Amino acid sequence: MIDFVSEYIRFQWKSVRVNRRLRALVLAVATLLLSRYNAKLVITSIFRENDGIHGDWRACDIKISNFGSTEEIREAVEWINKTFIYDPARPRYKTAVYGDDKHLDHIHLQVLWGDDPVWMPSK
Ligand SMILES: [Zn+2]
Repeated sequence: MIDFVSEYIRFQWKSVRVNRRLRALVLAVATLLLSRYNAKLVITSIFRENDGIHGDWRACDIKISNFGSTEEIREAVEWINKTFIYDPARPRYKTAVYGDDKHLDHIHLQVLWGDDPVWMPSK
């Protein structure tokens, strides 16, 4: 259900440093992609040194080339952001980022600090 762009990224995913909330998010998103788009979630990047949230093991990038269309990508991103609120106090920050200059060839998934895999439900 989850695949990795390389053995190096697979190795990173096994690390205890990966934020537990990020793990739960990735599993939920993988379920969505498989059930709705028959697409496998492929992680292309997790930890990157000196790279903000990636440097904190709280973010990963996923491939979008296995989606059918840009429309489907946008729909998936919308579902993720409706279901998983990044930070209720700062609504401008999103769990799934796609479509701006830096995020055209992948979806960036991120979570706030914390271990609790439960998010605030959206209203
Ligand atoms: Zn990213």
